[in-house]
Amino acid sequence: RREMLQEIVEVPPVTRDGRRLVLKANINSLKELEQALKNGVSSVGLFRTEFIFMDRSVMPSEEEQMELYKQAAEKLNGNSLDIRALDIGGDKMVSYLPLPAEENPSMGYRSIRILLDRKDLFHTQLRAVLRASLHGNIRLLFPMISSLDEVWKAKEALEEAKRELEKEGVPYNKEIPIGIMIEIPAAVAIADLLAREVDFFSIGTNDLVQYVLAVDRMNESVAHLYDPFHPAVLRMLQMTVEAAKRHGIPVSVCGEMAGDQRAIPLWLGLGIEEISMSVQSILPVKDRLLKSDGGESASLLSRALNCRTSEEIRQLFQFNSCETD
Ligand code: PEP
Ligand code: MG
Repeated sequence: RREMLQEIVEVPPVTRDGRRLVLKANINSLKELEQALKNGVSSVGLFRTEFIFMDRSVMPSEEEQMELYKQAAEKLNGNSLDIRALDIGGDKMVSYLPLPAEENPSMGYRSIRILLDRKDLFHTQLRAVLRASLHGNIRLLFPMISSLDEVWKAKEALEEAKRELEKEGVPYNKEIPIGIMIEIPAAVAIADLLAREVDFFSIGTNDLVQYVLAVDRMNESVAHLYDPFHPAVLRMLQMTVEAAKRHGIPVSVCGEMAGDQRAIPLWLGLGIEEISMSVQSILPVKDRLLKSDGGESASLLSRALNCRTSEEIRQLFQFNSCETD
């Protein structure tokens, strides 16, 4: 099956009736970027930079980070590279930044909450990203945003890094686009306010599902309740897209749900134009996309939004997507 999918590596990602859905890659490393390129992807929708901070005894220097981001950007030949600021805490730990054990790590001290406290970490990374931004089409993504205040503070930190580089005469892309992860229900609820502050949204369904349903994504005993096709999740997705559209900013999806073939009609129906997924999902998703009918997706979405249960939604999508699974 893998070999058969090789045939579609170069085929444009469009439905039978010509609807386009840009497929991007989620990567943790340069090695994964190479694999993504081999799978016919031209952009990166999520570079999880925490993986370059993990499994080592000291923090990567500004120079080291800059070099890595620059190499990644160059490999993409002008196509976009969305670099996410360090998303540690919760399940991702680094040895040189010991964090207190917490009762509830996924609701605790993590991600942007740490970055806004730990100027050393954040500032170094921002400088590295800015310096690399000259060498390609880099966009900066802030994780775990739950309020306007966090966006303002993150943007202020970026401005500070810019001013500093300016003073030192170090060049960078002054127009670097800024995006935020939409992965906390509060961010969905104020998506209209957040949309005025940033250039793009990226929906992180892994955390969004966890927080909307109050189901720990790491806890096996509640895994059966972790349900991306829950009607509440669908409504959250729709609210986010509506707010983004109203304010004229693009929205993509970069959680695992983006790698689920059965969700394709959902993205088409919602009017989402880009999805980003782990490398091994790219060809299977494209295969399904090529066999899909975009014309059906709008009515499918409105029916899905009227479903009362996840069971009903799943049935709807299974019937209407494709023959094979
Ligand atoms: C997400 O939460 O959906 C996401 C893409 O980020 P991560 O899986 O790294 O938390
Ligand atoms: Mg997340």
